[in-house]
Parts: sequence; C-alpha cells; structure tokens
Amino acid sequence: MPVNARVLIDGPSELVFDYAVPAGLDVRPGCRVRIPLRRQSATGTVLSMVEPAQVDFALRELESLIDPEPLITPVLLRMGEWIADYYGCGIETVIRSLLPESVRSEENSAKTRRVAVLDAVPDVTVLEKLAKRAPRQHAILTLLAHAPEMRMAVADLGDGSAAALKTMEKSGLLRLEVEDVRRDPEADGVDEVIESQPLLLNEGQQCALDAILTNLKDPAPKPILLLGVTGSGKTEVYLQAARHVLDLGKTVLVLVPEISLTPQTVRRFKARFAAMQDQVAVLHSNLSQGERFDEWHRIRKGIARIVIGARSAVFAPLPDLGLILVDEEHENTYKQENVPRYHGRDVAVLRAAFESCGIVLGSATPSLESWHNTQTGKYDLLRLDQRADGQSMPLVRIVDMRLEAAKHKGAPAVLSDKLRTALEERLAKGEQAILFLNRRGFARSLQCPKCGHVCQCPHCSVALTYHRTDERLVCHVCGHQAIVPRKCPECKDPAIILQGYGTQKVEEIMAKVLPQAKIARIDADAMRRKHALRDTLNAFKTHKIDVLIGTQMIAKGLHFPNVTLVGILNADLSLHVPDFRAGERTFQLITQVAGRAGRGELEGEVIVQTFTPHSPSIQYARRHDFDGFSEQEMEFRRQFGFPPYGHCAVLTSRSNHERRAEFTLQTLHLRLAENLPVGISLGEVLPSPLIRSHGQFRFQITLRTNRARPLTRHVQQVLARTTLPDDVTVVFDMDALNFS
Ligand code: ADP
Ligand code: ZN
Repeated sequence: MPVNARVLIDGPSELVFDYAVPAGLDVRPGCRVRIPLRRQSATGTVLSMVEPAQVDFALRELESLIDPEPLITPVLLRMGEWIADYYGCGIETVIRSLLPESVRSEENSAKTRRVAVLDAVPDVTVLEKLAKRAPRQHAILTLLAHAPEMRMAVADLGDGSAAALKTMEKSGLLRLEVEDVRRDPEADGVDEVIESQPLLLNEGQQCALDAILTNLKDPAPKPILLLGVTGSGKTEVYLQAARHVLDLGKTVLVLVPEISLTPQTVRRFKARFAAMQDQVAVLHSNLSQGERFDEWHRIRKGIARIVIGARSAVFAPLPDLGLILVDEEHENTYKQENVPRYHGRDVAVLRAAFESCGIVLGSATPSLESWHNTQTGKYDLLRLDQRADGQSMPLVRIVDMRLEAAKHKGAPAVLSDKLRTALEERLAKGEQAILFLNRRGFARSLQCPKCGHVCQCPHCSVALTYHRTDERLVCHVCGHQAIVPRKCPECKDPAIILQGYGTQKVEEIMAKVLPQAKIARIDADAMRRKHALRDTLNAFKTHKIDVLIGTQMIAKGLHFPNVTLVGILNADLSLHVPDFRAGERTFQLITQVAGRAGRGELEGEVIVQTFTPHSPSIQYARRHDFDGFSEQEMEFRRQFGFPPYGHCAVLTSRSNHERRAEFTLQTLHLRLAENLPVGISLGEVLPSPLIRSHGQFRFQITLRTNRARPLTRHVQQVLARTTLPDDVTVVFDMDALNFS
C-alpha cells in the first residue's frame, strides 16, 4: 500500500497537504521536497508519512527531493511537535526555528571551489620531459607536489592554467575536483586561542565529575542540577565531562545565556578544545547567512562535534548527542520572547530525554523550577559548596540607604560613605573594583519640582531617561528619542530637574570623588561599537582600568582575580516590580554580582546599598545561602500557588486602541470561562504593568494550572473560534517569565 507524504508548505500560511510519492523516491519525515501547488511549484518539509485517506480523487505527486537526506532528524521533528503542542503555536513557526532561514532558503548553498589533486608524486622522467616540452604543466606539477595533501585551489594556480590543467587531467597526471569551502566565522583570527590543559580536580569537582560520568552510562540518564557557588569550578567540570563524551565518539551541546555576554566561558571551551578547533562550532547571532548555512551543515554531518550557542542552539542538528550542558540555567534569556515562546533549558531537558543522552544544568543560583525538580526526584542534585581555589566567599555588608538619606538631609548620595571609603582603600592598595547598577543612562527621568510633571515616552507608559553624552531623552522600552526641554512642558517652569540616576551619572560622580581612578562603563549604550565589550574587558583584565561600572551586562560569568570590591548601588531596583519572581531575581542578581569579588589570591568584599535591608532576598544573598532563600521562597510560592507549584501562563491583548484591546480580552475571558477544564484558575482582565509599550495598549489575563497541556489546548480552541478585530493582537505565553 502506498504511503503518502504530509507536507508543510513553506510560507506564512501554514498550509499542510498530502502528496503521493513517486516510485523510487526515498521520502521520509524531515525531508525537504519540491511539490506542485496550484499551478506552481513550491517547497516544503515532510512532517510525516500517512496512510491514504478514503478519497476518490487522485492525489498529486511530489516533484522531487531537495536534499537526499532528511534535514530534520526524527528526534528534532518530535521535539518540534511537542513544542507546538505545549506552547500552543503552529508547527510552521517551530519548523522555522528548527531549520533557520539560511538553511531553508534555496538561495543559500554550499560555497564550492575547484581544486587540482595529485594522487602520487610524478615520476622524475615525466617531470624532466615536461620541463622541456611544457613548462606550464611542469610548474603546476611542482607547485602541487609541494602543497599540503598535494591539492590546491585552481584559482591559486595562476591565470591561464586552465588549458594546461585540462590536458593534464586527460593524460591522467592529476585530478580536478569540486570541494566545499567553509565560510569560517573565526577566520579573521581576532580570538587567537592557546590550548589549555585540564586542571587537577579538587575533591568536590572529582565527585561531581564521577557522578556525571556514572549517570551517562545509564541507558536513560536523569537530568543533573549542578549547584555550585560562584567560583566553585563548575566550568572545569563541564570541560572534563565534555572531553570524556567526545572521546567516546559522541557529540556535545553547550548552551550559554548569551554568546556576547559570556565571552570568558566561550573562550575557555575554545581553549580547551583548541587542538580540535575545526570540530568546534560557536553559533553567534551575528553569523552571516552563508556562515550559518555552513556551520549548520558541518554540525549535521558530524564534522563539528562540540557546539556552543545561546537558546536556539538547542535545535542544532548534532548527530549522536552524548551530553548537553546548560550554563547559568536560571537565566531568563533562555526563554524566547516571541513565537515560538519556548524555554531553551526546558527544551534541552526534553531533547536529552528523546536522545537518551546526559544533561547537566549548572548555576550558583538555580531557578526554583529546577530546584523543585531535584526535590521531587526528577533531577539528581550535585553540589560544589567551596570555591575551587580554596578562597572563602566574599564578605557582604549591607548599607541602609534610609540612614544615609537622613544623614545627608534629603536625597542620599549615590555612593554611601562606607562604599566611598572602601573604594579609596582598595584603589590605594592597587586592587580593582566593580560597581553595579541595573539602570543605564545618566538620570532616571526629568521631573518638574513645581508641578511634578515627568517627561514620558509618547508610546510607552514609562518615563524617558536622560542620556548625557548625546543630550537626549531616550525611552528604554521602544528607543524613542526626544530633545531635553529647557523648561517644564506642562507649567513652563525653568527649574525642571533630574531625578534618580543611572550608570552614566555614576561614572560622572566617580570622576569627581576619585579623580585619580581610571574608570570605564559597560552598558548597552557604551558598548554599541563592535568589539567594545571585549576591548573594555581586556583593558580591565590587564589593569588599565581600576573601576568598572556596569549594568547586568557584567553580572554574568566574569572572572577577574584582582577584583576585591563589588558595590551594588541600588539593590532594590529589581525588587519593586510587579512580578512574583522579583525576590528570586534580586537574590540571583546580588549573589551573581557579589560572586565577581575575591576570585583570586585576595579576599573579596561586597557592599550592597539598599532601602529595604531586611528583605529576605537581600539577607539570604548576604549569607550566600541558597538553601535558606529557596526554603522561604518555596513556601511563599506554595501558599499562593505560583510556579514551580504548577504552571503560570499569560494571555495578552495589544492594540493602538485601548478600548478594543480591553474589550477583546474581556470577550476571550467570557469564552475561556465556559467549559473551563478542572484545575485551571482563570484570572481577571487587567491592564499590564507596562500598560503602554511601542504605542500599543496592553491588557492581560493570568492563568494557572497544574497541567500545562489542557490549558494550552483550551486557550487554542477558544482562540480558533474567535475572530479578532484586525487591529488587536493576542499573544499566549505558557510558562511566562515576563509579566510586564
Ligand atoms: P564557576 O564556573 O563555578 O564560577 P570557574 O570554573 O570559573 O567557576 O572557576 C573559578 C576559578 O577557579 C577559575 O579561575 C578556574 O580556573 C579555577 N579552578 C577551577 N577548578 C580548579 C582546580 N581544580 N584547581 C585549581 N583551580 C581551579
Ligand atoms: Zn517608548
């Protein structure tokens, strides 16, 4: 009985049709095919092979296979179907993530070149004869005989070799071939790497490595959460585990939160595997289409056996996967904030299960979701409680900014007395410091002291931020720019002043308070220039800079042995946001930033400035106490039914028309309430905390449940039978991380 191919047609409309398969064509799920569509020819991806339905008209036949092998492996195809089902999105959007545009598009193809190859060194007599009779042929043969592997690109053999080459090919002196040329993203050689040798593991690391290797022998390894304090040597454990898996002939996938923000981690992997550099693929977001195409096929063919990338690398088509490593597994950047809204870490766990390979999630501040999974026995837990170099954890002091404010009668100074003194002392000793503030710009906002007017973004419901260098007001949500008014736009008072402060302001104050110190700033504004981040980090490493001021761009994975002081200027910034994860984020941020201190011979110190010194997130972070923090935070989550106890999803409506956005969501709310499956709690229609963004009004409903799938299906069913007004967009986000 013939089996038909169910094909997803390329294009935005998610068309799926069945086609008959012509005899002799080896069509399998995941294959790229050419098919007839109406009167044209189109391309598509085979989703599955299906039994013919009872229809009385003949199906049209497939035209041809584009690639002989399926581009999507069966495991990845299954993952794609799972994602579509779980996150409630069309399979087409998932296939788009699975097969990047650069791979799908027929315009891209392998870059090739013609090469001349010698199979054996030519006979001396032949050479002598040619030297006299055909000097050109003789010259080519001599060049080839000395070339590596006796092969050279035809283009390198000089103009006018064509005729000579043809003659020589005919007479069997050499062969002409076409070979693929790799468009090598690293070819510019900016990041020269020297091979690093494995370190002798300490006892804790050895235990962790042994446990990982034992786990890998299991036919279906359980996921492992590696909870290791900052500087405990997790990366070294990853490196040695990866080496082991590669030695077994299998492949390794390494996920990091963001390539550009984790340069040190990426470099350590490159350095350790420098001897097999051609087998390492780093999937940057700034690869060209051609480079991406080549890297993808190098991975698919098993040439690149260790792949490092951010969230989307979870779909890298590695054959024979042995191990997945997810570094800083708690990071929010693993969640994709547009369709398909998958979580890279969760999909990685799923992939490991499908591939029956090992997976290690690592962090100093694990997400409570992963932590919960260790408590229910779904994951194994491994711990590294000591720093690898035997140093103690940095001492964390809390400065109560309310007292500072009272001391200075009014607004407190940006730098408390304690922090200023500590900076002076450390710099006098030739040590380095990091100042952390999670806000860019010069000052928070422009406010009129007379009428209280604050300059707002006309498209978003946030205050504009003053940027000193280009004398502009900038919206940090949509990027809108405005000139700085000379007087209050409302009451025309000229006394309009700056409120709050950002990284730029800190830089200016530092220049006044510590004029002798060399200062640099790392934030999205200062790092626009290409390589700016790398150059600044290098300058800091070589101590051309004393104090680094930065936003959360500097919170991740950086290791500078001479940094002994870290100042957190306003620990409350992440605490007062309307999000049940605010406490968790604050704990993570303080712990991670504090972890940058004292990573060398010298002991480290951290000063945390806060207006809420008694908040649990700050107190537990002060003691580096993840267990204490998680215990009380889990209790709060359990009481209120927040994740990890159950799932939390958000349905958002957006429109330029406030009423229509709200009304649409109210209609959906009514329909969702009908036949609501048991166990789902349906929240009210509320304005989003950021009610206006990019000019659009936003409303949302929060839904909670113990079982994700029935919720997703219910929402999809309601959406499918509701016609939305043209100017309203509705977005469903399962396991949402962003509630603004
Ligand atoms: P983490 O990833 O847990 O933050 P790192 O892997 O960055 O920790 O390790 C912190 C520092 O300790 C690094 O400089 C690393 O080279 C060093 N280190 C790690 N393991 C060892 C070891 N076994 N012996 C000596 N130094 C080590
Ligand atoms: Zn805006």
